[in-house]
Amino acid sequence: MIHYKSLPILFVFIMLIIACQGTYSSKENNTSQEAYFLDSTLFSGQIDGEDATLYTLKNKQGMIVALTNFGARIVSIIVKDKKGINTDVVLGFNKVEDYNNEEEPYFGSVIGPFGNRISKGKMLIDNKEYNLSINNDPHTLHGGVEGLHFQVWKTKFFNQDSVVFSCELPDGKEGFPGNRKFQVKYSLNENNELEIGYKAISDIKTVFNLTNHAYFNLNGEGSGTILDHHLTIFADYFTPVDESLIPIGEIQDVKDTPFDFRKSKRIGRDIEITNSQLEFGKGYDHNFVLNGTRLGAFNYACRLVGNKSGIIMDVLTEEPGLQFYSGNFMSDKVILKNGSSDSYRTGLCLETQHFPDSPNHPSFPNTVYKPNQTYTTKSVYKFSTE
Ligand code: BGC
Repeated sequence: MIHYKSLPILFVFIMLIIACQGTYSSKENNTSQEAYFLDSTLFSGQIDGEDATLYTLKNKQGMIVALTNFGARIVSIIVKDKKGINTDVVLGFNKVEDYNNEEEPYFGSVIGPFGNRISKGKMLIDNKEYNLSINNDPHTLHGGVEGLHFQVWKTKFFNQDSVVFSCELPDGKEGFPGNRKFQVKYSLNENNELEIGYKAISDIKTVFNLTNHAYFNLNGEGSGTILDHHLTIFADYFTPVDESLIPIGEIQDVKDTPFDFRKSKRIGRDIEITNSQLEFGKGYDHNFVLNGTRLGAFNYACRLVGNKSGIIMDVLTEEPGLQFYSGNFMSDKVILKNGSSDSYRTGLCLETQHFPDSPNHPSFPNTVYKPNQTYTTKSVYKFSTE
């Protein structure tokens, strides 16, 4: 029983709880999740006997991009929201060893030698069959178990505007042919554009399809799901998949489907509609065939807008495709930089690339490279506010 003399104390206590919740929810509704600043000492150390380091690019607008050479990853992208609050729009970890996690290996990393799935880990080049490592039963995903995401890259160059990472993979690594050299350059300019330039070369005919697997949340890491973000994708067609997420080889019109993002649409608007493609992907996990809408020297791939922050991200690319993955397999497996966890659909990926399983679809744009033929491609993530 509560004594009547303790009632005023109880009253004050209840009022305090209500007041605190009010402050919290108004922050939730109207502003971004404020950025957590990294402790660089937690990014210096050895992974597999190689030195890892944190590199920070900055411009005069106050945009900051933090990267680690472990997986040539984006750790943070800090931009100002519409109210000037520093917002970290990329999900990741606050120490380098947390990236060395086989259950969630792709946070922020460069993906390769071949992004997305290769059916049953098999491909033919000049009638020779290659058997690749199977890491997404029964398929090969994102270059196999130890793809580019698990390499400790060498740092070739670093200043305030750019950093260049390089690494090599031996012939047969994860089943892919060729002694291969890779290079990735991240550059930040005064227009708040982060450009990623990829290069690769092999001594034997091989396949290349590189991308970046940053999970974005434009309201800030840890600010809830991405379902209220607005997305425009400049694509009239997408490549439908089977139940194991391998393209069936068709190019399907997005018209009258949940895949029509040609006009800005809330991501959550159609995501629960009964549709076999959405069932297979558990949401969006599909390659869009870009229209080739020109923006400067690039294809304009998509525009994403954070509903709370007003932060806009435009994605430009030289690639023919864009994989839109709405974080459907995220399931509270890891703790992120700001202490939140990687809950269901709290981040999304917009991966510029050639189409999944291209080596097994001669009608898709080519991903086979001759010996000593240089693979090169660039994509840009540009930030502004509404
Ligand atoms: C793929 C998803 C996959 C995810 C893993 C995405 O690029 O499209 O199917 O589950 O990567 O993080």
